[in-house]
Amino acid sequence: MDYDLLLTGGHVIDPKNDLDGRADIAVQDGKIAAVGLDLQGTAKKTVDVGGGYITPGLIDIHLHAYGRFSAWLHPDHHNLPYGVTTCVDTGSAGWQHFPDFVETIMKTAQMRVLAFVNIVGAGMAGACEQDISEMNPEPCADMIRQYPEYVVGSKSAHYGGPGWEAAQGGIDAARMADTITMVDFAPQPTRSYEDLLTERMAPGDIHTHLYASHIPLLDEDKKVNEYMWKARERGVIFDTGHGAGSFWFRIAVPAMQQGFQPDTISTDLHRSSRLRPNATMNATMSKFLAMGMPLQEVIYRSTQRPAEVIRRTELGHLSVGAEADVAVLELSQGDYGFVDSGRARIDGAQKLECRMTLKAGEVVWDEYGKSCPLWADAGEYKQAK
Ligand SMILES: [Zn+2]
Repeated sequence: MDYDLLLTGGHVIDPKNDLDGRADIAVQDGKIAAVGLDLQGTAKKTVDVGGGYITPGLIDIHLHAYGRFSAWLHPDHHNLPYGVTTCVDTGSAGWQHFPDFVETIMKTAQMRVLAFVNIVGAGMAGACEQDISEMNPEPCADMIRQYPEYVVGSKSAHYGGPGWEAAQGGIDAARMADTITMVDFAPQPTRSYEDLLTERMAPGDIHTHLYASHIPLLDEDKKVNEYMWKARERGVIFDTGHGAGSFWFRIAVPAMQQGFQPDTISTDLHRSSRLRPNATMNATMSKFLAMGMPLQEVIYRSTQRPAEVIRRTELGHLSVGAEADVAVLELSQGDYGFVDSGRARIDGAQKLECRMTLKAGEVVWDEYGKSCPLWADAGEYKQAK
């Protein structure tokens, strides 16, 4: 058997296949061909990953990758260097501009870009997000049905009015299209978080920004509210959605100490979250390590779990036959500090950084050139593709 690529010298963490130990990964025709020690066969290229952790390509289910949201970032440049091979844009485009998003970004990006369609027709384009005449479940559901390859559900966000038009509109669109909704919610006296979680959302629907300061996750005594457990029991999903304003250690640490972890680790990456809170996927994962989450669980909540949550279970694992989306992560030890959305710090002794990323078997990020020959051995080498 001849492989296209063999990754050796690594420690594989693949939660779905219950793998946590030394193993090599063989890739052929863009797919995982074999996983194990002492694989038989030769490879066109062998890369020693030098003790790094080999994981499924990471999946970030909350970020912004389209121009209707002015602070968007191009997905390839802000994900592939961090081992993220699948991302989900959360409502930057609404149902009016979704086809343009598909043509200009999704079809041209190197990584897999999926999306939630905004219940607001014009998407995250400022004042329109407060205009209830823009919140229309039917065309939103139509768009979801039209692009099943790219869409994972509906999204509602940022609505400051007293009513349920945005959140319930997103829920209704999801039910019409037989899919899920992601809700970014700000409670008002007229619409409570408890009502949203325990009455309106269905099992599988996602609340993002779990640890935001405007979310009543904890009561006055810093105890996790009873309705949070009730919502989790009914199957409501809780997503991190770090962002510029939605990830606070003073909420996350006591919640996690009481056992209320997020289902999924995600960044809400955009221009402002990218800078001082440093909400990249690797830094966000490192923040969870600093709060005491074991590495295996951090990987699970960044690979297998998000794939299940967005109902793309063909992703997020290294099973033979799966598309070869792979991250090689280095876990460094040192004196580190990590910052939250409120500009407070947590100290940590470990930091995850991505050294290599494969998308469908292609090396798309290789920080130290481990897949490249030394220049002196490379002969009359030419411009690579
Ligand atoms: Zn967001």
